[in-house]
Amino acid sequence: MPLDIYHYMSDLRNMNEKRVWSMLSEYIDNNDMTGICLCPICVVDIAAITLNSIPPHYQTEENLSVAAERVSDVEIYKQIKKAVAVVARRPHH
Ligand SMILES: [Zn+2]
Repeated sequence: MPLDIYHYMSDLRNMNEKRVWSMLSEYIDNNDMTGICLCPICVVDIAAITLNSIPPHYQTEENLSVAAERVSDVEIYKQIKKAVAVVARRPHH
């Protein structure tokens, strides 16, 4: 395998990252977040915990238009809720 294949790795994207960011932003806007720290460290922790709770979905940028959603929005929402509870209990700072 040619070593320059690594160059093409930069075209790989975990399609779930965008979905989690968008759903997390919506979650924060539409839920009572009283008592939950929303500093960048905690919000990124919530996103990281959520992403680690669902299978990754890598694709090349070329194939963006044919992206099939392998994890449902309901499942992502459920994992965001759990991640918020984890970070609220034990903030990383
Ligand atoms: Zn915080």
